[in-house]
Amino acid sequence: MKIIFWGTRGSIPTPGETTVKYGGNTPCVELRFDDDNFIILDAGTGIRNLGEKIIESGSSINTYVLISHPHWDHIQGFPFFKPAFISGNEITIVCAEFDGISLPQMISDQMNKAYFPIQLNELKANINFKSVREEEFDVFGANVKTLFLNHPLFAIGYRITYRNKSITYISDNEPFDRYVAQTIKNVHTEIIKKYLEYKNEPNQHLFDFVMGSDILIYDSTYTPEEYIDRVGWGHSHYLFSLKVAAEGNVKNLVLFHHDPSHNDAKIDEIYSKCLKEIKNRNYKFLCHPAYEGFVMNLNT
Ligand SMILES: [Zn+2]
Repeated sequence: MKIIFWGTRGSIPTPGETTVKYGGNTPCVELRFDDDNFIILDAGTGIRNLGEKIIESGSSINTYVLISHPHWDHIQGFPFFKPAFISGNEITIVCAEFDGISLPQMISDQMNKAYFPIQLNELKANINFKSVREEEFDVFGANVKTLFLNHPLFAIGYRITYRNKSITYISDNEPFDRYVAQTIKNVHTEIIKKYLEYKNEPNQHLFDFVMGSDILIYDSTYTPEEYIDRVGWGHSHYLFSLKVAAEGNVKNLVLFHHDPSHNDAKIDEIYSKCLKEIKNRNYKFLCHPAYEGFVMNLNT
C-alpha cells in the first residue's frame, strides 16, 4: 500500500517561498490499498489537490474520510473537494460527536451561507456520516481502531491495519500531565477523567495504541522551548514525539502538523536535532519529516 501526504501543516495554511520544501497545506493523508480502494485522513486544505488528482483520473469514487476533529485546519478543505460535487460518488465522513453538535453539523456549519456559497445538502455526491467513539470497524478489508487524544474539546487517533501492516495517525495530541490537567478547562471532561484513571503513566495507553506500528504519523508542532509557553494548546514538542515512537516500538516516525511559524530552515533544524537525539539515545526507528508529495510504500 501507499501513503501519500497532501497536507502536512498545522493550524493554518502557510503558502510562500519559505515553506516550499515541506508545504503549506493543512492536514490530509491518502492511504491507497493494493486494490486501489483508498481512505483519506483529515480534510485540511491538502484534500483539494487530492480531489484534482481524482477528477483527472476520471474514475468515480467510494471513499472514507477519517476526520481527527473538527478544528478548521482538519475540515476546511472539504468544501473544495471536487469529487463531493459529482453525483455517483460515495463519501463517508467519520468522526466523533460531542456536546450536542452532530457530525453533519460539524461539516455543514463551515458551509453556512454566511461563510460559503454552496451548502452541504447541495453537494451531488452521496455523503454519509459515521459517528464513532473508541471502537474498531472495518473499511475495505482494513481494520480501523480509534483512540481519544488529549486536545482541546477532543481529537481522535486512528490506527489502520491492513494485511498485518499498521499505520497510526495522531495529528493533534498534547503529552498528558496530571498536574496540568487540573488547571486546563478546554479538553472534554469525559476525556480528562479517562486519562486520570490510568494509575501510573497516563500516556501509556497512547504508547500501547501505537505499539509496533510500521508507520506512526505524529504531531510534532513545537520545539521543547516553544512548548513551555503553549501548555494546554493541545500539541506535542518533538522530544515527546520521539518518546512516543520509542515507547511504542514503531518502525518509522513521521514528524507531522508543522507549526505555521516554522519555515523550511526551521524544520530542517528540528529534523537534524531529532536525528541527533535518536542516535544519542540509541533509538531503533527511522524518522522522516512530512512534506507535501511525500510517498511511503508499505510492502503488503
Ligand atoms: Zn490541527
